[in-house]
Amino acid sequence: MPEEKEKTPRIHFIRNIIKADLEAGKNKSKVVTRFPPEPNGFLHIGHAKSICLNFGMSIEFQGQCYLRFDDTNPEKESQEYMNAIQEDVKWLGFQWVELTKASDYFQKLYEYAIDLIKCGKAYIDSLTADEIREYRGTLTEPGKNSPYRNRSVEENLMLFEEMKAGKHEDGTLVLRAKLDMSSSNINMRDPVIYRVRHIEHHSTGDEWKIYPMYDFTHCISDALENITHSLCTLEFEDHRPLYDWFLDQLDVPTHPQQIEFSRLNLQYTVISKRKLLSLVEEGHVDGWDDPRMPTIAGLRRRGFTPKSIRDFCEEIGISKENSIIDMLLLENAVRNDLNEFADRAFAIIDPLKLIITNYEEGKTEKVMAKNHPQNPERGERELTFERELFIERDDFLEDAPKKFFRFSIGREVRLKYGYYVTCTSVVKDADGKILEVHCEYDPESKGGTTADGRKVKGTVHWLPASDHKKAEFRLYDRLFKDANPAKADQFESSLNPDSFILKKECLIEPMLAKAEAGSKFQFERLGYFCADSKDHGSENAVYNRVVALRDSWAKQS
Ligand code: ATP
Ligand code: MG
Repeated sequence: MPEEKEKTPRIHFIRNIIKADLEAGKNKSKVVTRFPPEPNGFLHIGHAKSICLNFGMSIEFQGQCYLRFDDTNPEKESQEYMNAIQEDVKWLGFQWVELTKASDYFQKLYEYAIDLIKCGKAYIDSLTADEIREYRGTLTEPGKNSPYRNRSVEENLMLFEEMKAGKHEDGTLVLRAKLDMSSSNINMRDPVIYRVRHIEHHSTGDEWKIYPMYDFTHCISDALENITHSLCTLEFEDHRPLYDWFLDQLDVPTHPQQIEFSRLNLQYTVISKRKLLSLVEEGHVDGWDDPRMPTIAGLRRRGFTPKSIRDFCEEIGISKENSIIDMLLLENAVRNDLNEFADRAFAIIDPLKLIITNYEEGKTEKVMAKNHPQNPERGERELTFERELFIERDDFLEDAPKKFFRFSIGREVRLKYGYYVTCTSVVKDADGKILEVHCEYDPESKGGTTADGRKVKGTVHWLPASDHKKAEFRLYDRLFKDANPAKADQFESSLNPDSFILKKECLIEPMLAKAEAGSKFQFERLGYFCADSKDHGSENAVYNRVVALRDSWAKQS
């Protein structure tokens, strides 16, 4: 990991609660948190917010943080997702005290369910799923008691045992907590806590025919791990009374405190595993780690650094306010980080030949280029200067406006680390496409100073015709053209058609072809680029654009 300059942490209400609890000697003055993903997809930038908070609090207060897989829906989960999640959490720079799974507690959860039945706080319901929904009532109308609500404890225990033994079909019987069907909080209207599912589980195989529901599982798992502060997103606020109710009924080791904060929403993307999965399945992106995806794997492949993501999470802060975060904040976070440590290099997206007609044929000169303008200790590298060079096609204009400080006939520009050159003519093909730009150089101007002290406004980058490598550039941009695609009914319809532009004939300095996959550079004047972790190799250089040097969207809106 590069040298870190972490900022002073921001004050937020969760930090304040934890601090006060520790000062009051609560929980033996120890903080224990957990990050509890369901392994039903890859982690996204929203999860990063939760990871930075949960692991961050445990580090700050010398506590512990668990990574717990909330794996109670086997049909949607997989080992592949569990592996990806562990890789992502580690990559972000965090280490869990222990890796656990809700399924580790299936036996205990089952025993707690029996305890609930025994004390008359849970019953087996034979209503169908549709009937249960109908009986539940609405936000404005109370629900109705199920006709099976008053089954005897013995009958409930027997039926629950049969469910466990696989004697009932999926969707027939359920175990429900006995609370209050007229509660104003719908979550408290006899929630289902166990259902029958004859399905292989990725961790427990075919051992279980019944699976516990989230609300029952989560609070007990928290209690069994001695979690002190169970930090979750705001949609669980209405579930908190149920979280507390279960723990109050049961003989559990501790009673953790659930605290809610707002989810991260980010402009120009969707953040929900369900929607991200549909982008993958419908082929709108090339997998979960497509560099346009807001997944941790996608951001990593794109060239984001762990620090840039942690800085972003710190910057957006923690609150109960719902908001949509400006994409600029994420882009600036990676720009700031890469600006500090990425070496500079020359690369050309769309090459155009430049011939210095008064430069001796066959002659070459070595010029020294700085790897980092603000960090001389990062050293210099050698570039070959010669009669034939390549420049960026965009850097030449025939009918250039006055303020165009690049190549145009009669204008003088500086070739960075090289000489001043003045354009004299162009060579075109039959269709009028420019093939070559001709110019003359001032032999006295090497390195940017001239005998008469004249200055030019424009400085451009270049590559020598005899000493470069070819590369493929993948220019990425925002995945959606709408700032809030989540609102669109069919969010696919607001996809940005220009989110990926492939450039196959790009040129790079030879050392960039040899750079390891994942290496990051600032290609001068073009942006930050990262050697693709899957496809880059010395025979086939592939660079992803992480982010442009400046924000190009600000001008448009
Ligand atoms: P999704 O809707 O994307 O599937 P989820 O909440 O179902 O998200 P989980 O795997 O259950 O995903 O989440 C693990 C943890 O990450 C939870 O504590 C959840 O609150 C938190 N989390 C998920 N999405 C966000 C987000 N956008 N911002 C902050 N925290 C989030
Ligand atoms: Mg979920």
